[in-house]
Parts: sequence; structure tokens; C-alpha cells
Amino acid sequence: MATFSVAPPEMSLKTSNGNSAIVEQAAVLQESAFITAMTQFDHAVQFLNLDPGYDQLLKTCKRELTVVFPVKMDNGDIRMFTGYRVHHNTARGPSKGGIRYSMNVSLDEVRALAMWMTWKCAVVNIPYGGAKGGVLVDPKKLTLHELEGVTRRYTTEIAPLLSPEGDIPAPDMGTNPQIMAWMMDTYSMHRGYSVPAVVTGKPVNIGGSAGRLEATGRGVMYTVREAFKTYGWKLDGASVAVQGFGNVGSISAMTAYEMGCKVIALSDVEGGLYNAKGIDLPKLRQFRKEHSSLKGFSGAEPITNAELIALPCDVLIPAAMEDQINHSNARTVRARMVAEGANGPTTPDADRILNENGIVVIPDILCNAGGVVVSYFEWVQDMQQLFWEEDDVNRRLERIMLRSFHDVYDTARGMNIDLRTAALVLAIGRVAEATRTRGLYP
Ligand code: NAD
Repeated sequence: MATFSVAPPEMSLKTSNGNSAIVEQAAVLQESAFITAMTQFDHAVQFLNLDPGYDQLLKTCKRELTVVFPVKMDNGDIRMFTGYRVHHNTARGPSKGGIRYSMNVSLDEVRALAMWMTWKCAVVNIPYGGAKGGVLVDPKKLTLHELEGVTRRYTTEIAPLLSPEGDIPAPDMGTNPQIMAWMMDTYSMHRGYSVPAVVTGKPVNIGGSAGRLEATGRGVMYTVREAFKTYGWKLDGASVAVQGFGNVGSISAMTAYEMGCKVIALSDVEGGLYNAKGIDLPKLRQFRKEHSSLKGFSGAEPITNAELIALPCDVLIPAAMEDQINHSNARTVRARMVAEGANGPTTPDADRILNENGIVVIPDILCNAGGVVVSYFEWVQDMQQLFWEEDDVNRRLERIMLRSFHDVYDTARGMNIDLRTAALVLAIGRVAEATRTRGLYP
């Protein structure tokens, strides 16, 4: 956990909503995501020969919107919510990035996540800039009707920034295809006609792409498989531990299982499960469907999230949230490889420790880029009104993930730097190049 305690300026705004204790606690967390993003940037630019002034230009978010809006709850009360939409950079194309619903959301967290989206789209070389959005809300504490109300009002509030050519949201922590459907519908109602390409990660029956739901987790494992091949390691039977059992964690775990790995541990916010012989994933998924929890599954022992991070294993996949591998637990990590399914799960201090200990870290902006790659496919399909088979989506996804892994790996070898720095060098270099080619307006 980070140690920053100074409240950012937006705090006063949020505390007026009456959430002060939770918001203050959350701000400690998110400042760390922002500091992590800035520290990573400052480190990577030392390896780039940027034009004067470009480092300031590239580390600054170009547009930030804070919205505070009322929603009538089911009991008739009016509750105020705070949301954000931030565009970090659009030199390479429209801004792209997910919407997060969580009590940890803050402007600084959204800024960091928007910046990582810019680098992610650049590292896999798709024609987008970076954005992110979020609402300070625990979606589990709302009824379906209230969740729809929050989503529709938030979409209306940030609508001036959205369009298929300008800014395209997608799901992230706490949001899902249904929420994307409400966003798309709200935007379309204001236009008077359907605009499916304004949002990705929608259900397939309203213009979503086959394979989008699974894309991030699949992309994580395509990258891990290629890395194992490149390092000459054996994936069959390799032990895998996954933190987070949401969209990214559950699909990463399932794909690992299908690739012949032994998934020895899994967790969610309530705690984890461990079985040295490997967890029966299809059985566990069925159990979770029936009980909405991992707790009580008979095929594994309970463990804590801290114990999961410290398990000896071949691959550790943090797939929950930021700051999970930090200065206080990095020395306990005994994995051979950390494959970052989440955004920003490793702090810069922890990164140094993992590197010193010879642990290979596949950085988030590469490892979890499968989601935005298939979001890009979804957007292309929506624009063309021509839809692809899932096989085709997966093949194209795999090709991009493998090419991107080798671009990063070759950069790392060529410059004698770690994979994260290499991914950032590649990405920041591409965004700088696009900026130089376009020139500075006016
Ligand atoms: P999700 O809401 O579907 O799942 C999050 C999971 O993490 C849940 O199982 C939750 O219980 C668990 N969790 C939350 N806090 C935890 C904690 N402290 N310890 C352990 N588990 C915890 O979210 P998601 O879409 O799977 O996103 C997870 C991460 O992956 C986020 O960092 C997100 O930004 C990143 N990501 C998501 C996508 C995507 O397509 N959904 C794409 C790229 C990156």
C-alpha cells in the first residue's frame, strides 16, 4: 500500500457527497497508480531521445471531465454520484479506454489508467489514443434498476466527449456487457438512431464482437505461451496462480487450464483457494455460477490473497487491481514469471525487486492488451456492419499479441532493458513519432 496521504484537489468535491472516509482511504490507493504511471514514464524516457518539451506533452492528460450527478434510488431518495472521463492522448487516433465502477475510483487513478491505455494501444500498434472513465460507486450495492440509472445518467453527463470517431468506452472493473448496452442505448437515444460503434464490449446481439468477453484473458495466455516458447520453458504442466476471478482472472485461468497448465491457486476479493495438484476449473466455474462465490468449494483449501502472491509457481497472474505487488510483499514472490492481467498491479519499487530476483515480468500494457485489440475489432466490425467468426477474431488476436511480444522482447534485448521499460520505450516512441508527424497546432 502506498504511503501518500495528501488529498488531491478533487477530494473536497467528493467529500461533499458524504463519502469522506471511504474516499480518503481510496485516494491513498489511487495516488499510487498515478505515481506508478509517472515513475514508469520518467524511467522509460531516459532511453528515448525525445524532442525538447515532448516529455511534458506526453505525460499530461489532454482533457479531463468531472461530473457530479443525481440518481433517484429505488426507495425514492436522491443520491449524488461522482464520475470522470479523461482523455490522455489522441495523437494516434480516437481515445479508447474502459469505464470502472468502484469505490476506489478517483481522478488520479483515472489519469493513470488513461495514460496506460495510450501506451497499450501504441505497443500493440492499433490506431487509438488513451482514455479512461469511472464512477465512484460499489455496483454490488445497487439494484439492477439503480445501476441502469447511474449508467444512463453518467453516459449523458460525459456524452459531449463520446463518439465513434472521438472516444469509445469499454468495460473495466465493475462494469460488464449489460452496462455497455445501456451506454450504447443512451447515446443512441440522444442521436435518434443506433450508434453501436460508440462503445465496445457490448453483447453480441447488439453489435458486440464474438470473442470480446474472453479476449483479455486469452491475450494474457497467448503472451505467456509465446514467452515460455521464447525462453525455452515448458508450458505443459506449468503451475499458475491467479489473483482476481472476474473477467480477466477467470478467463486467464480457464485458458491456462485448456493449454495444459496446472492452475494451483485462485482468489477474489473475499479470499482464495489452493490445490497443489491443480484446481478442476470447469467444476469450480460451475460452483461459482451456482453460489456466486469461491467460498466453500470442496476441491481446494482456502488461502489468503497474501499467501497466493507468495506461492512458489511458474506463473503468477495478478488480475484484480493496482498496487498488489508492492515494496512490502515483492520479496515474497516466488513465481518464475509475473504476467500482469490487471493494470498497474506492480509498483516501481516492487518492479526493481522482481528484476533483481530474476523474475520475468510481462508488463500490463502488453500482457492484457488483448481486450483492447478485440475492442478495436468490434469497432471495425460495427463501422462496416460486417461481422467475423470467433475463430477469425482469435486468430487475428493471437497474431497481434505474438507480434507485439516479439517487438517488446527484441527491444529489451537490443537495449539491455527489462520488458516493461522496453514496452514503454516502444509505445512512447510511437506516440512521439505520431505527434512529430502531425506537428503542433496551430
Ligand atoms: P472484474 O470486476 O470483472 O473482476 C475483478 C476481480 O478482482 C473480482 O473477482 C474481484 O473479486 C477481484 N478483486 C478485487 N479486489 C481484490 C483484491 N484486493 N484482492 C483480490 N481480488 C480482488 O474486473 P476485470 O475486468 O477482470 O478487471 C481486472 C483488472 O484487469 C483491472 O485492473 C482492469 O483494469 C484490468 N483489465 C481489464 C480488461 C477487461 O477487458 N475487462 C482489459 C485490460 C485490463
